[in-house]
Amino acid sequence: MNTAFATGYAEDGILPVPAWVKAIAETVVTLPDATATHAGRLEGRRAGLERRRQRLYAAHRASLLTYSAALAAAVNADDLNDQLQQHDRKDRRAVALAVLMRTMLTTDGLTLGWHRANAAAYADATAEGQAQAAAAPNGGPASPRTVHPVAPLVSGVAWQHGKVWTDQQLDGLAGDLAGAKDALQIRTVLTAGRGVTFYLEDQMHAAAVTGFSVMVDARNATLSFITMGDGRVCAVCDSYAAGSPYDPADFPEPPVHGACRCWPEQYALAA
Ligand SMILES: [Zn+2]
Repeated sequence: MNTAFATGYAEDGILPVPAWVKAIAETVVTLPDATATHAGRLEGRRAGLERRRQRLYAAHRASLLTYSAALAAAVNADDLNDQLQQHDRKDRRAVALAVLMRTMLTTDGLTLGWHRANAAAYADATAEGQAQAAAAPNGGPASPRTVHPVAPLVSGVAWQHGKVWTDQQLDGLAGDLAGAKDALQIRTVLTAGRGVTFYLEDQMHAAAVTGFSVMVDARNATLSFITMGDGRVCAVCDSYAAGSPYDPADFPEPPVHGACRCWPEQYALAA
């Protein structure tokens, strides 16, 4: 790795150095040392923030899996299988959703616990996005153009989002169940909670990006659309990245699709 870049990275970065940071380091070899050091510092900070975000996801995924396990235990896989087999493919999703909804409502503490866990995830993701924006490279003092106090933004909508997420998670889970061939597959889907964790991650990503954008907007700056820069980035995300920078009002907020790994970065303070 470029020595000047590595010096900057070591100030704030996490170890071991992620592959994508190493890839960036290759492109700064021709920069003057002072610029390379600065680039290394920024990438180090970004790597640290990314790790924090991953920890947040992991903690909430673990908390939601508790409720996912309770739901799996409460649904009778054989009964659900019998009901699904009696319906056409196009109706199976609705049948699965109805069973999941009824199970949620009739199992003590499940609905409330799940909503609370989701609301906490939304609040933490929004706050994390704002914390990341506050720590963003190139960030000047917040401009008075728009004031978005963090606490009311989080507490006022977190509960409402918890309900929306729960519905989305159940809907995703129902979709998975509709494709299951037999009771064994149904048990596997319920236990693995694929729908639950997939939608949680997607929605947390969205909440964090929104929190970030709100803070950058308040700062009167522009946003860049950042991809992971590897071979798995899709053409749509690549085109959004190429269109950077954006005014916050026009910014195509990630996640653009399921399992999108893209992220905003503050580009510059606008004139
Ligand atoms: Zn993407």
